[in-house]
Amino acid sequence: MCVFTHFAAGALLGAFSPHVALAPVVGLGSHIVLDVIPHRDFENMKVEIGLGILALAVLLAGGVYSWAVILGGLAAVLPDLENLLWKLGKIRENQKIFPGHVGFIPHGKPAGKINLILQFILSAAALIFLIRIEV
Ligand SMILES: [Zn+2]
Repeated sequence: MCVFTHFAAGALLGAFSPHVALAPVVGLGSHIVLDVIPHRDFENMKVEIGLGILALAVLLAGGVYSWAVILGGLAAVLPDLENLLWKLGKIRENQKIFPGHVGFIPHGKPAGKINLILQFILSAAALIFLIRIEV
C-alpha cells in the first residue's frame, strides 16, 4: 500500500488501541495486513514520501496531537523504510527483514490505478474521522 494509506490506517488503529504503548504494535500489524491486499503503489518515491508527510501534516494541522494516533501512524509506515533504502541501493534485497517484504508473508498482487483513488478516499476519510474524534 501507499505510505499515506499505511499512515492513515496505523493512526486510526492507534486511536483505538487500549494503551498508547500498544499503538505502534497495532500500527506495525496493520502494515502486514494492508500489504497482503492487492494494491498499487506510486513508482516515484518522492511522491510516496511527500504524500505520507502530507497525511501527517493534515492530522497535525487538524489539531490531532495524540501520541497513540501519531505513533500508530509512524509505526505503520516504518517497515517501508527498508523498501526506501533498498530502492536507493543502500541495502540489498536479502537484507530486508520485514515479513511482508521478504516473501515470508505473500505480498498483494498489483492492482489497477483505480486502487490509488480508493486508497486516497479511504485514507482521507480516516484522517477526517480522526480529526473529528480527537479534537
Ligand atoms: Zn510494505
